[in-house]
Order: sequence, then C-alpha cells, then structure tokens
Amino acid sequence: MARCDQGYLCRVCNAEVEDIVDSELYLRFVIGEIDPETLHTSPECHLRCNALLAQFISDPRFEPRISVEGDFSMSALDSEFVRTKSDLVNRGYARLWEIMQDEVGMAVIDYPLEEVQSKWR
Ligand SMILES: [Zn+2]
Repeated sequence: MARCDQGYLCRVCNAEVEDIVDSELYLRFVIGEIDPETLHTSPECHLRCNALLAQFISDPRFEPRISVEGDFSMSALDSEFVRTKSDLVNRGYARLWEIMQDEVGMAVIDYPLEEVQSKWR
C-alpha cells in the first residue's frame, strides 16, 4: 500500500487499508519484522485488526486504544519484553506519520527506523 495506491484489502475485515498509518504491514516493515523483499507479497491488515500488535501503541493519534485479554495481554507478558516492544512499536507508529506527511517522496526502502536500515546494510 504505497500512499497513492488503492485497493489493498485487510486480511481480517476485508475493508480497504486507506492510509499508511492504518497499516499493520507497514508498521511491521518500519520496525524490521518484514523485510523489503516480502513487503509486497504480504497481505495487508489494519493496525486495529491486529490487536496483539496494536495493544502496544500508546499514541493520541491512534484511537481507540486497543487492549487484549488473556495470555498475550500486556499485563500477562514479561514486563521487559513489553517495555522494549512498546518502545519499538511506538517509534514505528510515529514513523508512519512522518512517512504519511512526507512531502519529498521518500523511497520505500527509507521508511524503516534507522536501526532497522543499518541492520540490512
Ligand atoms: Zn481490518
């Protein structure tokens, strides 16, 4: 789902993923969970439709705040893991907003967080 493309449908709810800030796929890309080769062959998903990932986002721009019950809830997970993951996911989420508001036409390969890009080099 590049900004000008249309028609990428969420694998969970089947509705269109309209903005990069709604994209679970791109969030996972910017935080390094998806590499550039598999980005375009992976199915799209709304962030809100992947609660296990979305629960880590605490950003006023992300609404509503998502919570998960059970074994994979933030309260059940290891606190160090939750701290590290929340930090990464929130920086990734903020990055999606930078990408959406970018006016110079950033290349997709430059989307990921700096630490992710340096891992790939
Ligand atoms: Zn969805």
